[in-house]
Amino acid sequence: MSLKLYNTLTRRKEEFAPIDPAKVRMYVCGPTVYDFAHIGNARPVIVFDVLYRLLRHVYGADHVVYVRNITDVDDKINDRAARDFPDLPLNEAIRRVTESTAAQFHSDIAALGVLPPTAEPRATEHIAEMREIIERLVRGGFAYVAEGHVLFSPGAMNAADGVLPRYGALANRTLDEMEAGARVDVAPYKRDTTDFVLWKPSRPGEPGWPPPAGIAGLGRPGWHIECSAMSWKHLGETFDIHGGGIDLVFPHHENEIAQSTCAFGHGVMANVWMHNGFLQVEGEKMSKSLGNFVTINELLETDRFGGRRWPGEVLRLAMLKTHYRQPIDWTVDSLIEADRNLRSWARCWTDDVEPGFDPGAAEILSDDLNTPRLIAWLHMTFNEAEKGDAAAGRRLTATLAALGFSSLFSKLKGAPGTSAEHNAAIESRIAARLAARRAKDFAESDRIRDELATMGIQLKDGKDPATGEPVTTWEVKR
Ligand code: AMP
Ligand code: ZN
Repeated sequence: MSLKLYNTLTRRKEEFAPIDPAKVRMYVCGPTVYDFAHIGNARPVIVFDVLYRLLRHVYGADHVVYVRNITDVDDKINDRAARDFPDLPLNEAIRRVTESTAAQFHSDIAALGVLPPTAEPRATEHIAEMREIIERLVRGGFAYVAEGHVLFSPGAMNAADGVLPRYGALANRTLDEMEAGARVDVAPYKRDTTDFVLWKPSRPGEPGWPPPAGIAGLGRPGWHIECSAMSWKHLGETFDIHGGGIDLVFPHHENEIAQSTCAFGHGVMANVWMHNGFLQVEGEKMSKSLGNFVTINELLETDRFGGRRWPGEVLRLAMLKTHYRQPIDWTVDSLIEADRNLRSWARCWTDDVEPGFDPGAAEILSDDLNTPRLIAWLHMTFNEAEKGDAAAGRRLTATLAALGFSSLFSKLKGAPGTSAEHNAAIESRIAARLAARRAKDFAESDRIRDELATMGIQLKDGKDPATGEPVTTWEVKR
């Protein structure tokens, strides 16, 4: 089977050929841990999880290495730490922010049906590798020291002979264009407007590490060097796939390429560069000030969006309905629809089927992760299964499980109404809800109603004609 992936670097869909098929290597830029992850951050997590699953299918589960980092050095983290823990020493405050945010991220994305990556390196654990790369860049004439900073010079990179790529190749811009577009308030220690920071000094009280050679005093790394260091440590000087959101193409990924290729003297850092499109909410850019900032956690744990909590698998399916390179408009309607799809598919879920992509499904996905077409295939296969084709039911189940939806179906399995025990469980939830309503705890009563709804149980409230007491009946929603 041939796998085709769109490569931002060449702006074409290309046949994927790993450097070593026994060890396919992929790096994806992970979150900066200073706040709850929003639903846009969930997109690369889900998209590259689907790619990871497909690569494991094609090359074997033991032959794919997937690294997704955690950025735990960043000015935004420092600001948050000072704001949230003003009484603690800054380093302690930072540790609290990064640890709790990383734990929150893990618990949020666990609900999305994603496999853990092979490695999840943290920037703070790779400062030595960053120093090493920075020193190589200075020795090679690609970077210089100025006022306690180390700066990378794209101009020096483009002036060098040999195998190095051209700075700007990924973003598809020339240095001249970038210089023309540079801001006017360029830091005075920069020789050129396009030079970017590899290392900067830390002020007293700020987190700091021993600096690269030629600099005095503690300092901290720039953002781009973190990913060059972590990918080098875990995947080597050159690897197969590098991913992230489209916002990272420039400057982050352009600068990663510059650092890694100049430090190691190769023409490539990663062969294939993949970028997911941006997500916006109900037609607008997500932002705190517009009040449309949606965190993964709010969707999972509160009823703020659409009046109910959403299972992670619903978010996952809603996300995969759009091809990963297209922008997504995130709507509650898309969640309602995904929820309905999953509940229908659950009717054909078969318990004793091994997870695994059906060959037809794998082929569709191999065309640059064509998840919209894959979902059409799922609908078609479901229709066959509903008509009594048991093999279609098994193909559907195996493929849904391979795609990361199995945990929801094991929750839904045996669809309600099949056993006395199950019915008793539903009746007891309904009794608890009626008790909550009598106690005027409507949040709890709604919560129970939603919980039953995710199991496909629809409640109908009425009154007992004889006594006038509230009664609730239920049915399985088809
Ligand atoms: P950050 O924590 O902002 O560095 O983002 C972590 C990952 O989420 C990166 O791969 C970003 O490109 C991606 N990302 C951030 N915002 C969005 C969005 N609105 N839509 C899609 N991807 C996003
Ligand atoms: Zn990165």
